[in-house]
Formats: sequence, C-alpha cells, structure tokens
Amino acid sequence: MIIMKSEATQEQVNQVVAEIQKYGLRADVSRGSFRTVIGLVGDERKIPFDHLAVLPGVKEALRVEIPYKLISWEYSKSIEGVSEPRIIKLGEVSIGNGEPVFIAGPCAVESKESLFKIAEAIKKAGASILRGGVFKPRSSVHSFQGLGAEGLDEAEEALSWMQEAGKKFELMVATEVRGESQVELIARYADILQIGARNMYDQDLLTTVARRGKPVLFKRHFGAGIEEFLSFAEYVAAEGNKDIILCERGIVPVGKGKSYTRYNLDLASVPAIQKETYLPIVVDPSHATGRRDLIYSMSCAAIAAGAAGVMVEVHYNPTEALVDAQQAITPDELKEIITACRKIRSVVASRKNKG
Ligand code: PEP
Ligand code: MN
Repeated sequence: MIIMKSEATQEQVNQVVAEIQKYGLRADVSRGSFRTVIGLVGDERKIPFDHLAVLPGVKEALRVEIPYKLISWEYSKSIEGVSEPRIIKLGEVSIGNGEPVFIAGPCAVESKESLFKIAEAIKKAGASILRGGVFKPRSSVHSFQGLGAEGLDEAEEALSWMQEAGKKFELMVATEVRGESQVELIARYADILQIGARNMYDQDLLTTVARRGKPVLFKRHFGAGIEEFLSFAEYVAAEGNKDIILCERGIVPVGKGKSYTRYNLDLASVPAIQKETYLPIVVDPSHATGRRDLIYSMSCAAIAAGAAGVMVEVHYNPTEALVDAQQAITPDELKEIITACRKIRSVVASRKNKG
C-alpha cells in the first residue's frame, strides 16, 4: 500500500504506478479528497518496498498482510479515510444503505409467461430485484439445467425475458454466470452478475466477471470459511470492481443423521463479516434451509443480524417449480416477509461496523 503525500502530482502517482507495474504487479489507485492511495495487487514479495518509499511524492509504503485488504475496513478507514459502508446503487435501488433490499424470483427461468407473472407479483410484494437462473448449476446431469442448456438462442431469449420483465415491472435483474464463456452474453441483459456457491473458488471466472464492471452478487461456497470467502471476493475487487454484494447461503451441516435443513445457515457470519469489510452482505434462506416453512423465520433472523437484504426463491405455484420446488414460497408469503423484515429493521438497525 503506497500512501502519496497530499501535494503529490499526477505525474508522481503515474511514476509509482509504472514502478509497481515494472515488477509485474498491478496498482489499485484510490483518489480520496485528501490524498491518493495506491494498493498493490499481486505477489508483493517481488517488490522492494524501501525503493517505493523513496520515490518522489510518496509519504509512506506499508505492507498490509490481510488477504482481503482491498475490501477491508482497514484499507478504507485508515488508508482511504472512508469509514462508511459501501452503498451499491443500481438505478433506483440502493444496497447497503440501511433499508433492506429484497431479491426474489424463481430458481430457474422456466417460460416467459411464468417469469412475467412472478416478476409482477414480487414487485407488488415489495421486492426490487428479480432473480432467476438461465444457466443452472445442477448436481445431476439428468435434471433440468435451465433454458441456457438448450442452446445459445434459447439462452439469449430467456435472458431477454429477464431484461424485459425488469424494465416492465421496474426491477433490477440478477442472474448466475456459471462459466467464463457466458459473461459477455449475460452482461448484455442482466444488471447484477451472480457467482454461484459452487464457483466461489473459480479465480478465472471471478476475474472475467469483475472486469465486465457490473455489480457482482458473490455467494459463499458451502465449505468456505469466512476468511476464504472474503479472500475470493478480493479477486473481484482486485480488478477495480468493488460493487460486490456478498451472499451468505449456508454451509455444510455437521454430524451424523438427518440435518433437517439443506445447509446450516451461518447467520453469525453476517455481523462477523461486517466487522471485516465495508461491502454489504445479503442472506439467501432458500438454498440455506431448502424448506419453505423456514424461510419466514430465517429471513427475519437475517435482517435482525444486520443483513443488507434477503434473496428468496418465489413461485406463484411453488409445488410446480421446475427446480427447488421444496423451498419456493408464494408472493403472498414474500409480502409477509417483507413487512416483517421492515419492522425488524426499524428496531434493529444495521450496525455495520459500529459495534
Ligand atoms: C442460486 O441462487 O440460484 C443457487 C444455485 O444458489 P447457490 O449457488 O447458493 O447454491
Ligand atoms: Mn435454487
């Protein structure tokens, strides 16, 4: 981390950046109102810090050891001088401003008609972001893989329905990018690019998605520790894209015997993560529990824990959903959840890093 003097010129900043690049690293330049800070991205062992410290315009050259330094409070507070949580703005929607956001929709996009019906209903219920998978990660090759698996034209058509539904019902649109080859196509239609739990570790996918510059909904892998989760989010930030919405969606259950939930929803991760990073975190109780009868309680609990919002799977006829029918809720149930969550947020403020 290179802290420039307040009077440092643009030329001096450029010289430091060029010096960093000479050693094969990249530079993350943040211009604050008082000073410019340059974060090093890459293998820091390659760089002689003593040499950088004496370049013209440099105030200090510091080593920050945490693996997710670019998204850490330490970086934003002590280095950039920013102590407010990051608010991600997308049209009329703000994520992380204290008001809970609701991301809702089917597990998979099934047809134009059903998508529009669901989109209209979730908007009425109070959601602001429509979710729905076109490229689905599935454990079995024999199950429905999403319309994306039916061919490029079908994938593009399904994505265009998402975009159309978003425009028609004034919703932002989030959908999963399962592989690098899908990034360009999906980014033409979606407002938010989702990285699914299974792909949390795919560095190349994270880098390609990040470079597209759109907000990223980044889901925790079910076997990842918190430090690991944040360290992989850092791959997105390292491309200069800090519009990252973290998503807690449960980790593998422990012990023998029936676990009664699909995963263990790690709600303590919400406040714990907010002590580490200025990024907002939302909770997905649908994949975490796999049970529609638990979505209400866990959504309320997520907001009480300080989450910036919840993502839930909704279908007008849940038992008919082609994927994850057991966890889908109705638009009426979503409405009840939204009403309850807003009440909870009014008494339990999102404390972020405050204590
Ligand atoms: C999803 O949100 O559509 C999904 C597949 O969830 P996860 O990646 O968390 O399993
Ligand atoms: Mn699902």
